[in-house]
Amino acid sequence: MTKNSSNTMALTPNTSNKKETVCIFGTGDFGRALAHKMIQSGYRVVFGSRSTQTSSLIPKDAEVLSHAEAAQKAAIIIIAIQRQHYNFLTSLAEILRGKVLVDISNNLKINQYPESNAEYLAQLVPGAKVVKAFNTVSAWALQSGTLDASRQVFVCGDDMEAKQMVMDIVRALGLTPLDQGSLLAAQEIENYPLQLFPMWKFPIFLSLSLTAFFFFYCLALDVIYPYVYEKKDFSFFIAISIPNKVCPILALILLALVYLPGVLAAIIQLYRGTKYRRFPDWLDKWMLCRKQLGLVALAFASVHVLYTLVIPIRSFVRWRVSSYTISQALNNKTAPLDNTNAWLSDSYLALGILGFFLFVLLGITSLPSVSNNVNWREFRFVQSKLGYLTLILCTAHTLVYGGKWFLNPSSYKWYLPHAYMLSLIVPCTVLVVKFVLIFPCLDKPLTQIRQGWERNPQYSE
Ligand code: NAP
Repeated sequence: MTKNSSNTMALTPNTSNKKETVCIFGTGDFGRALAHKMIQSGYRVVFGSRSTQTSSLIPKDAEVLSHAEAAQKAAIIIIAIQRQHYNFLTSLAEILRGKVLVDISNNLKINQYPESNAEYLAQLVPGAKVVKAFNTVSAWALQSGTLDASRQVFVCGDDMEAKQMVMDIVRALGLTPLDQGSLLAAQEIENYPLQLFPMWKFPIFLSLSLTAFFFFYCLALDVIYPYVYEKKDFSFFIAISIPNKVCPILALILLALVYLPGVLAAIIQLYRGTKYRRFPDWLDKWMLCRKQLGLVALAFASVHVLYTLVIPIRSFVRWRVSSYTISQALNNKTAPLDNTNAWLSDSYLALGILGFFLFVLLGITSLPSVSNNVNWREFRFVQSKLGYLTLILCTAHTLVYGGKWFLNPSSYKWYLPHAYMLSLIVPCTVLVVKFVLIFPCLDKPLTQIRQGWERNPQYSE
């Protein structure tokens, strides 16, 4: 009985601990959405507005007063006003002295002003304790409750107590505060909502450029060349044949580019004999977007699989098979089974299937919901060991399929190598260098360097 009653107590909301009054300056979209959520969470909300008239849009439990009157009713004031209208706050400086001012504002452009909006607010009202928060949450998400993507609220400020008070409110609203340090971090927090998929820019730009290059390369060799020299029209290759060449080529090159920066980093560390010197900026950035590169590669591999599945129903393929059968019938002879060809064909299909299976596994383990449930060693095992195995299988898949063209002089149209040969340059380089790096004479010093050993220690004891 005693146990039961204590459980019931724990589940009942603590009504005796009534939450404080919070003031919001501005009855705009964000001010109203935040007020709505705060009232739901048990806070009393008082608006400070240019007009004290209430409207149907304003939550009915909220009071609307003048800025000066509202500010006197609360210790925390949320400034839900655009930065360009902050000037009027200087006239309230005395009333705002010692209060916690929460700056939630965003800008239209990255680094639009020399100082952050929060620092600007702190300059306008020097007696107040300014905290930056809530700018990464949208009014719409607050109002509709669809906060899954933006549950994290970055908070920063110079006054620890003020920051703690704001973080308590964030938690009470069911969100997760992330302390970003002093007000110096405000500019970065304000730039955050203005960024458009920052980690995806390089992979998308690179894959678009490579797609364009390989598309026109294949177009020249597979469509324009036969048209110029043999007067054959293969323009329909543009629909399936060429994309089904470009997709696996891109998948393979991008997968290799996921592992290339790691190999380059190892060479740099071996050369410098230390891990304590920063990598060049371009390498740091490249390493940070490896997951995105891998996911784009997986997308290309998946499209390749789909294109491959439709090959048997293509009219061109059916025509080729039936003409071959008819020509055999007309000549009254059956070609014997070419065992080598059968082996090559089955091996390349098997390598492709296994490679794609591991590719999908890599993609799944990179999802946060999965990667959060494996430890660091397990994650490294999948991403590094299985990743290299995927690269080996996919490279072998391409080699077995495209190998027949490499030694055949007729495949060098306009003296240009076949596109499959080009696609193997980066993966083969990565695999060869990685193979060299696992030799004990290189692997041992590299492991030591990664554990903190230095060839020429900067700070000797
Ligand atoms: P809004 O709808 O334009 O509302 C701004 C409010 O500021 C107005 O309703 C008005 O309130 C007040 N105001 C306008 N001109 C003023 C002036 N000259 N002097 C004093 N007060 C004035 O803007 P909002 O979308 O709510 O955004 C407010 C702030 O939140 C902005 O800094 C924005 O960057 C930030 N924010 C917005 C969102 C969002 O999803 N909307 C998300 C994150 C951050 P009164 O009429 O009551 O005085």
